[in-house]
Amino acid sequence: MSSDRGKDAAEGSSRSAADQQQQSSTPLSRYESQKRRDWNTFGQYLKNKRPPVSLPQCNCNHVLDFLRYLDQFGKTKVHLQGCVFFGQPEPPAPCTCPLRQAWGSLDALIGRLRAAYEENGGSPETNPFGKAAIRVYLREGNGNFVKEYCGWVALA
Ligand SMILES: [Zn+2]
Repeated sequence: MSSDRGKDAAEGSSRSAADQQQQSSTPLSRYESQKRRDWNTFGQYLKNKRPPVSLPQCNCNHVLDFLRYLDQFGKTKVHLQGCVFFGQPEPPAPCTCPLRQAWGSLDALIGRLRAAYEENGGSPETNPFGKAAIRVYLREGNGNFVKEYCGWVALA
């Protein structure tokens, strides 16, 4: 009955059944389960790339793209200069200005993914979530500038 679901789980993870059993006997903290969910979302995002990106290939440009991708699900309206609602967080009428994720939630997300990357076999030296460019992006939100900067930093 649940064979389809089992198959999906097997495909989505290389963990052994014993490993999963152990996980279910110790309830995960909120942080741990959130971290796992974020990591799965990021893994899915890389897999859906054309062509798909494997974890060792993943660099901070992918992370920046991921953050921009998440913005469409954000709830914070960022009005562009020139919009009649500029300065109003809750526009009284629809406008075409972009939505953004709140800074604090992205900052926490990056922290969780940074830990998850290393728990999933990534090395701290190549950890794309720890790159300076990510912090600059979170602070400035200037994607294009940071993308250049990101490539440069990734080589360092
Ligand atoms: Zn607007």
